[in-house]
Amino acid sequence: MRSMIPDYLAEALGEVAADTTGETAGYIPELATADPERLGAAFAMVDGEVYGAGDIDTAFTIQSISKPFVYALALSDRGFDQVLAKVGVEPSGEAFNEISLESGTGRPLNPMINAGAITTHSLAGPEGLQPAERVERITDGLSAFAGRRLKMDESVHASEMEHAHRNLAIAHMLGSYGVLTGDVRAVVDGYIRQCSLLVTARDLAIMAATLANRGVNPLSGERVVPEPVVRQVLSVMFSCGMYDAAGDWATQVGIPAKSGVAGGLIGALPGQIGIATFSPRLDSHGNSVRGVSLFERFSSDMGLHVMEVPAAARAALRTHHVVGSGPGALRVLQLQGGLGFAGAEKVVREVVGTAHPEVRVALDLTRVHSMDDVARRVLLEVVRRLTLDGHEVYLVDPEAVMPDPDPGDGGRVTVVTHLDQAVNAPDADLRSRPQ
Ligand code: GLN
Repeated sequence: MRSMIPDYLAEALGEVAADTTGETAGYIPELATADPERLGAAFAMVDGEVYGAGDIDTAFTIQSISKPFVYALALSDRGFDQVLAKVGVEPSGEAFNEISLESGTGRPLNPMINAGAITTHSLAGPEGLQPAERVERITDGLSAFAGRRLKMDESVHASEMEHAHRNLAIAHMLGSYGVLTGDVRAVVDGYIRQCSLLVTARDLAIMAATLANRGVNPLSGERVVPEPVVRQVLSVMFSCGMYDAAGDWATQVGIPAKSGVAGGLIGALPGQIGIATFSPRLDSHGNSVRGVSLFERFSSDMGLHVMEVPAAARAALRTHHVVGSGPGALRVLQLQGGLGFAGAEKVVREVVGTAHPEVRVALDLTRVHSMDDVARRVLLEVVRRLTLDGHEVYLVDPEAVMPDPDPGDGGRVTVVTHLDQAVNAPDADLRSRPQ
């Protein structure tokens, strides 16, 4: 069978191709001359499988799509406190190049607008780096996100530098508030170099998939940034990534995203997919016209909106029954699926609401494929409290979905790989149950 996913992508491109509205970015002469008909879309799954249609191997400059990745590098290199002291996380509702700072603090409102991005550029790498070393750190970091070495387009850099009055104005203002220190012109030069890194839609999809995959590049297996950094970056992309169109985007598309004025657009859906589109004509916000249409379509066709409420998960508690009778009887709670807080809470409620004459209780995890840390801790506390109430507790866990099953203070659990082992276990402890 041939996969239908590239066919779907090609069909989606065909539908938006007729739309020739919008303009290439006029304020950077090198970008104004881009071929406006280029059009491509790529999906990268979190296991590294890539699907694409159209111009997915055409190189273009990353521009503002570098911002979330450099923010991630700054957070990893300097820590949250240092970065948050200098750049906020509030949506500005303003254009990307607005000359604005938070009143009172002088901080840029968020790292997705230029004021914030110029500041986070200055925070990448350890303190005291030379401007060229900082660009090197950023090139290395973005290359790790992409899974291949990225190169810079010197002519786009030179072209933008000649017309960088606005970014220089922003940088001087940041300098006057002490948010930027040292040679602010060198910071703008470095920021524009960062924006001039060349990528393809395929690269961008992998970069987005690295975010969707908790910071681990699905191709190289490299952990590029820590998980808490990814959560921070995706949150800011969700609220601020599309500038003054962020609210429309959040409601209609609902995928953490970032656009760039060369026509790229990325979206990262946590745990599922990285998406990238490329089409150079821009709307009045500086977002790719066809890119926005493609994302609207992808989101509705494939139910990708992050606020889409999933169909009520299948009951976490599959069955609850007693095997055998007399003092050796075993009460079995069989759980299933992926367990988070809500699934674990069902178990707590069931255990609390049942009078347990049986001494022996088994939590059967055979049909559980995963559990998060909260579910793990809640279930271990169930085990501990059952032990303290005088029960002998078994965990049936053939796939070891519960790492480190230590119920802690006063708790005791016997881990087995098959329910029969619990059913037939010697019941030596039975008489120790306080009556
Ligand atoms: N280099 C561009 C600038 O700073 C990036 C803007 C963008 O892609 N939105 O103006």
